[in-house]
Amino acid sequence: MKTVGYAAHAEKAELTPYHFERRDLRSNDVAIEITHCGVCHSDLHTVNGDWGPQPYPLVPGHEIVGIVTAVGQDVSTYQVGDRVAVGCMVDSCQECDHCHHGEEQYCRNGMTPTYGSPDRHTGETTQGGYSKHIVVREEFVLRIPAKLDIARTAPILCAGITTYSPLRTWDVQPGTRVGVIGLGGLGHMAVKLAVAMGADVTAISRSNSKEAQAKALGAKSLLASSDSDAMAKAASSFDLIIDTIPAKHDVNIYTPLLDLDGSLVIVGQVGPLAEPMTTPLIFGRRRIAGSLIGGIAETQELLEFCAEHDVYPECEMIRMDQINDAFKQLESGDLAHRFVIDMASLSAK
Ligand SMILES: [Zn+2]
Ligand SMILES: [Zn+2]
Repeated sequence: MKTVGYAAHAEKAELTPYHFERRDLRSNDVAIEITHCGVCHSDLHTVNGDWGPQPYPLVPGHEIVGIVTAVGQDVSTYQVGDRVAVGCMVDSCQECDHCHHGEEQYCRNGMTPTYGSPDRHTGETTQGGYSKHIVVREEFVLRIPAKLDIARTAPILCAGITTYSPLRTWDVQPGTRVGVIGLGGLGHMAVKLAVAMGADVTAISRSNSKEAQAKALGAKSLLASSDSDAMAKAASSFDLIIDTIPAKHDVNIYTPLLDLDGSLVIVGQVGPLAEPMTTPLIFGRRRIAGSLIGGIAETQELLEFCAEHDVYPECEMIRMDQINDAFKQLESGDLAHRFVIDMASLSAK
């Protein structure tokens, strides 16, 4: 199937229109016409080569929603016309214990990321959602609940699940004291989801400038990390902190905020941290942990959760040809919303 997308053709290059082929449907494949795709900080990191050399041309995008246009002969869960979604992975071994337990993101044989990775069967590079169409095996396609507005659903597939999974893993309940560091794409979703779970949520930001924004998202208060008095007063007052900072940073200013057995979970940054101090960890049995997206079943659960609790990412719709400007804005600061590409703006020609 011929399709068109926007691709980077070299490290740090601007994205430009790119015509390419999607594979012929295998018996277990679903073909999707993409209506919207969210713009994730990972897309920018990958295009820039921040996480290592990439197979260019590369079409990014792993917050994908659209409509089923065709299904393979063995597909039983989806029909033409269904509203569906695809997140950060499109395949895994389906045989290891982690796959069997719905933790495909931690597949022992390595999951297949939605873009920039060799297909398990053909070795061709996977290409992401900044395009008109995608073909994905049935097991990695999600159903969008009828209640959800499809245009605002896309960022749930990465920003949503990346923050929902640790909130569930660390068993957030009504009254759990949750801190969220950073109020960008991930952080603003972490606040909304934790609030919907009934948690007592505090946004943690460099200054007080985002206080009104944090409260509008449902946070009880904002703690400014630059205010040493406020930070000292907040010592040992959190059960869980979700750390969404997308760059190398110092966790030592945050770990003392955790109460006994509390955990700081890193979800925003892949790579080295500034040197962590063991003192607050040992004197307080505190933990530093990491978490990667969520499994397919958990992502489906999240879509239902968002429908039930009316939780949506803050979205700013853009045209496909505005992507390079959106990347520049993303690079210059943590915007408390997600850019979402309206794929109707991408001409098929
Ligand atoms: Zn992402
Ligand atoms: Zn596996």
